[in-house]
Amino acid sequence: MLNIILFGPPGSGKGTQAAKLVEKYDLVHVSTGDLLRSEISQKSDLGMEAKKYMDQGNLVPDEVVIGMIDNKLADNRDSKGLILDGFPRTVAQANALNMVLAKHTTSISTVLALQVSDEELKDRLLKRGATSGRADDQDESIIANRINVYKEQTAVVGQFYAKEGKFQEVAGEGEINEIFARLTAQIEAVMA
Ligand code: AMP
Repeated sequence: MLNIILFGPPGSGKGTQAAKLVEKYDLVHVSTGDLLRSEISQKSDLGMEAKKYMDQGNLVPDEVVIGMIDNKLADNRDSKGLILDGFPRTVAQANALNMVLAKHTTSISTVLALQVSDEELKDRLLKRGATSGRADDQDESIIANRINVYKEQTAVVGQFYAKEGKFQEVAGEGEINEIFARLTAQIEAVMA
């Protein structure tokens, strides 16, 4: 399987690029944010619990997201591979992911980390908030908290994969297609 983690702060373009990569390489898109928002729209217990954290821009507890990922991987064990978008966000999640993938005799192929300045992130998120209806994209202090949470809790996940020799930085500013070309160049190198 080709299992790619699209890594980067909120607003770095993970969702946009994941959709394009899924189409090009016939992969399954796994976005924990989308899975959680779907739980919220179904008003499930899990969704209602997660919403409290998401509305503030804080991380949902590890056991909640890890359980969701375990189910999603079990459902897609025959796929060509996965694009993980917004997961893992903590080292505990990264360890759990390694174990779940090993259970399915597969592993992470590469981690592609989109690099975008804080100013640009804030700008993009506020713009998205105007049309997405996402409460966590509309309030400047919640956006600032999400970027902070990324720096304090998630950035270390990059070092986790760097130690495994699987971490690649990719410039995430510019035209969508230009960024896509940078990502696919890295993926082709890993596949070769
Ligand atoms: P996203 O759509 O990836 O920006 O995620 C939106 C929100 O969902 C985040 O701010 C978190 O509250 C929650 N969330 C998504 N993925 C995770 C994760 N892997 N771990 C913890 N919380 C998450």
